[in-house]
Amino acid sequence: MAEMKQHFLEAARAMEAEMTAWRRELHQHPELGFDLTFTREFVRARLEEMGCEPVPCGEGLTVLLGKSGGKTILLRGDMDALPVEEEADVPYKSQCPGKMHACGHDMHTAMLLGAAKLLKDNESLLEGQVKLMFQPAEEILAGSSNMIEHGVLENPHVDGALMIHVTTGVPIPKGTLMIPEGGTGSASSDHFRITVKGKGGHGAMPNLSVDPITALAHIHLALQEIHAREITPGDFLVITPGIFQAGNASNVIPDTAMMEGTIRAGSVEMVDFARKRLTEIAEGTAKVFRAEAQVEFLASCPPMIADNEMSDSARRYLTELLGQAVLPPMGGSKIGGGSEDFAFVSVKVPTIGLFLGAGNANEGFLYPQHHPKARFDDSVLYIGTASYAYFAYRWLAEHK
Ligand SMILES: [Zn+2]
Ligand SMILES: [Zn+2]
Repeated sequence: MAEMKQHFLEAARAMEAEMTAWRRELHQHPELGFDLTFTREFVRARLEEMGCEPVPCGEGLTVLLGKSGGKTILLRGDMDALPVEEEADVPYKSQCPGKMHACGHDMHTAMLLGAAKLLKDNESLLEGQVKLMFQPAEEILAGSSNMIEHGVLENPHVDGALMIHVTTGVPIPKGTLMIPEGGTGSASSDHFRITVKGKGGHGAMPNLSVDPITALAHIHLALQEIHAREITPGDFLVITPGIFQAGNASNVIPDTAMMEGTIRAGSVEMVDFARKRLTEIAEGTAKVFRAEAQVEFLASCPPMIADNEMSDSARRYLTELLGQAVLPPMGGSKIGGGSEDFAFVSVKVPTIGLFLGAGNANEGFLYPQHHPKARFDDSVLYIGTASYAYFAYRWLAEHK
């Protein structure tokens, strides 16, 4: 094994310059959701250059490597960006106004492309099959379901799955891997919208109107009580409104006011509770102020489940590969507030999601993911690539 790990690490390292160039090219051309014309074409072209045969699967791409007869392990890299105007001071800044790879999915795409090359070059060593999943639309929590609907987990049937997410601005040292223990790994996510309908009118005559802004403001405050007064202290729940909109003129009471936000929870029961109470509070509070609230849930994904056996395997193989660069298991609360739409895969096949440090505050990476000034260090790409590839190679060797 010592020889093989050296081989994978060195081969990944030899691709560093190439992977950095891929990542920076992708970073300059961020695309959103399913609308990944440039990105998908870029990925397809690189894969074909390597001798891989990418196949469309829904709005994503898959590649199958290895030999049939054994088990199949799936490796996922997501490809989409965020509707954020980039403010990071980097020479390869986004060239698309209002769009930015602020979550690091450009890193994931480059790392998985690197893994494709590594695995293709070592295909004869694989004792089963590796399925690469280049996924769209993670940020809108729709991409992995789209690929599941189009059969990504079948033909051949997938027996286990691994994803890696880079981190920045959080206390994970650069180049180290964090491997969650079995259990709930990341929170659920529910995107909600509350629309309050009042009755518009002249700003000077509120008595003739029903002001939806007042009602929505009271709803916003009342929602804080779910967390403060209704759940067991220590249970994981976040309710954050990120959009609050109403009106176009300072002297006009608008007809409607609207809020959108996100619910993050650590269990399916908590999600159900939060959705129910949010609806009751919005409808009840609006009624108090003579208005009407309509609550919609626009997108949803379950909590991400880390499989015990996959977690153990990942820890063993990747400690072999990287030694001290694999962090010890965390004690206490393990649920991260960030959600991950690979959760849809994790409820169907044994899954593990790893985190790879790509810069923290002490190293000068001050801003967290999704921030317009977030930066990610390219120098960890080879570690991600080697981890993807070595994990797949080792997992197949041990699961025949
Ligand atoms: Zn994100
Ligand atoms: Zn992400």
